[in-house]
Amino acid sequence: MTMNQGLIPAKWAALTPNRMALYDVPNDRRITFADLDERVRRLANGLRGLGLEKGDRVAVLTKNSIEFQELFFAVGRAGLILQPLNWRLATPSLLGLVADATPKVLITASEFRSVAEELSRSTTVDHWLEFGPGGSGTYEELLASSSPAEPIWTPSVGGDDPFFILYTGGTTGESKGALHSHTSAAAGMLNQTVAERVVPTDVYMLTGQMYHIPVVLSMNYMKHGCPVVLVNFEAKQALEIIESERVSAFLGITTMLNWMMAVENFDSYDLSSLRNIQYGGGPMPSAIVRSALEAFPCTLIQGYGQTEGTTMSFLSQEDHLDAVNGINEHRLKSCGREGFGTTIRVVDFDGNEVPKDGRTPGEIVVRSEANMLGYWNKPELTAQTLRDGWMWTGDVAVWDEDHYVYIVDRAKDMIISGGENIYSIQVEEAIGAHPAVLECAVIGIPDDEWGEVVKAVVVLKPGHTATEQEIIDTAKRNLASYQKPRSVDFVDALPKAPTGKIMKRDLRAPYLEATAAR
Ligand code: ATP
Repeated sequence: MTMNQGLIPAKWAALTPNRMALYDVPNDRRITFADLDERVRRLANGLRGLGLEKGDRVAVLTKNSIEFQELFFAVGRAGLILQPLNWRLATPSLLGLVADATPKVLITASEFRSVAEELSRSTTVDHWLEFGPGGSGTYEELLASSSPAEPIWTPSVGGDDPFFILYTGGTTGESKGALHSHTSAAAGMLNQTVAERVVPTDVYMLTGQMYHIPVVLSMNYMKHGCPVVLVNFEAKQALEIIESERVSAFLGITTMLNWMMAVENFDSYDLSSLRNIQYGGGPMPSAIVRSALEAFPCTLIQGYGQTEGTTMSFLSQEDHLDAVNGINEHRLKSCGREGFGTTIRVVDFDGNEVPKDGRTPGEIVVRSEANMLGYWNKPELTAQTLRDGWMWTGDVAVWDEDHYVYIVDRAKDMIISGGENIYSIQVEEAIGAHPAVLECAVIGIPDDEWGEVVKAVVVLKPGHTATEQEIIDTAKRNLASYQKPRSVDFVDALPKAPTGKIMKRDLRAPYLEATAAR
C-alpha cells in the first residue's frame, strides 16, 4: 500500500529537523520541518478528537499559508479528506461547494470571517475553526490542547484512501471536484521528481494557489526535504524572491514567465540560483519559450497536466536544449512525451489510436496511477471520463511517430468554420510569432455564412504597437487560408481563471450576445 502522504514532514523532522520547511512570504513566517511535523500531529489528533471518522471531509478557506499546507498533511495523517476552497469565488459558489462535499469541519483564515460565518451555517458543518495573524484563534486553541503523539490512525491510511478533493479550473464549464488518493498523489509526485530531476539542495517557489493541482508539485519538493517558499505571485516580487531566497525551481503557469521577462531591468536580478523552471498549464507559443530559454539561466521543462491527473506529459530539458541548438525545433510546439508511470495515447471517438503522423487529430487519453479516483459526487461524469482504466482528457492533439504530443485545442474550444475544424492553439501559436504580442486568444464567433469565423483577441506588450492587418499577415504565414483570423480585437487584458488560464467562454460571451441581439 502506498505510504500515507501525510507522513512527508515526519521523515524530514527526523533527518533535518531545523531545516526550513515553509516560508510564507506574504505573512513573513517560516517554519522548520520539526515544528511543522509537531503541528501536523497535533492537528491530526485534534481533528479526530472533534469526532471525525475516516473519510470525513475538512474544508479550508485561506490564501496560501503554512496552515493550508499543514492541513494537507494532517488530514492525511488522520485519514480524513481535505476540501480546499477557492477564496476567489463568490459566496454562493462557495456554499455550493460546501453543499457538494458536506464537510464536518470548516477551517478559515480570519480575513474571510464574514463569508466563513455564512458557510459555517451549512447544516453539515459541526465545527468552524478560525486562525488569525500571529497564531491566534480557535484553530490554534485546538492545536494547543491536542496531543503531539503520533496519531494512531496514520499507519492504516494510504493507498486508495481518498486524500483531497481539488476542483478543476472551471475554464470550460462548471468546475468539478477531482478526488485524489494517497496513491494518485504519490504517483503524481514521482512523475514530477523524474521529470524535474529534483535534488536535495532545491528551494522551490510555489507560484500557484494551493487549492489547485500545483500543490502536488510543491509537496513533492517537501518530500525531498526541500524548503518551499509560498508567494502570491506578482512578477517583480517573484524575481526579488528568487534572488533573496536562492530559489532553484518553480512553476511558471501560462503567462507568468512572460510577465517576469517584461519586468523593468529584468537583467539586473540575480537569478543564478535557478536550476530548472517548469512551465505549462496552458498553451505557450514557441516564440515565448525561445525568449525564456535566453532570458533565464537554467533549464526549462514543459508540463501538460490536469487537475484530474497531475502532470501527464513533459517536454524535457534535453528537448529544449536541442531546439536551442537547431535540432528538432518544431518540438517546442509540443507538450512532449508521457511522464514516468504514465501511458498516453491519441485516439478517435471509438478509442482507436489515430495515426502517428503529426496531422490526424484525436483526443488524449491517459493511463496512470496518478489519475484521480473520480469526480466527487458526479458518477455519470466519472463514468464518461474514466473508461477501462483510461482517462479521457477532452484535449485534442496530434502525435508523431516518436510519441511527441501536440495539443491543438480543447475539444470545447474547437472552431468549426465552413465545415473545417480549426484548432485555436495552432492559430494562437502563429499569432505569437508577432514580436509585439504579449498574449492572445483565438475564439470562434457566430457567422451567418460560415457558421463560425476566427476572431483573435490580442494583448500587446507594454510600449509596443501592431495593426490588425499585421497580426493577420503574421498568422497567415504559417496557416492555411481558412485558419487565419478574420478579425483582431486589441484588449488590455484577457479574462483569466485563477489558474491563469484564459476563460474563452467569458471572452466569447459578448460576441455571442451581440449576434443574438441582431
Ligand atoms: P475545467 O475542466 O473545469 O474547464 P480546467 O481545464 O481549467 O477546468 P485544469 O485542470 O486546471 O482545469 O486545466 C487542465 C487543462 O489545461 C488541460 O486539460 C489542458 O487543456 C490545459 N493545459 C495544461 N497544460 C497544458 C500545456 N502544457 N499545453 C496546453 N494546454 C495545457
